[in-house]
Amino acid sequence: MKEKNWQENMDIPFHSPEETDKEWYKFECPKCGEEDEVPGYVIDEFAMGKDLKEGEMPGVACPECGAEMKFKYTFER
Ligand SMILES: [Zn+2]
Repeated sequence: MKEKNWQENMDIPFHSPEETDKEWYKFECPKCGEEDEVPGYVIDEFAMGKDLKEGEMPGVACPECGAEMKFKYTFER
């Protein structure tokens, strides 16, 4: 039986970014100041099924306190 120990990948809880777009999204928590970087395809997945307008960001929860994080900017990696 195979068990996925995803907790080992706490820093990067996503798949390998090499297979995806190089665009990343930087978020900052307005509550505790925690910063998070989310790859573009994850944003796409978040946005899927939601009625978002062009350029609108889906909500990303802060890993520290659970508050909705604020989108700051995109960058390439
Ligand atoms: Zn927070």
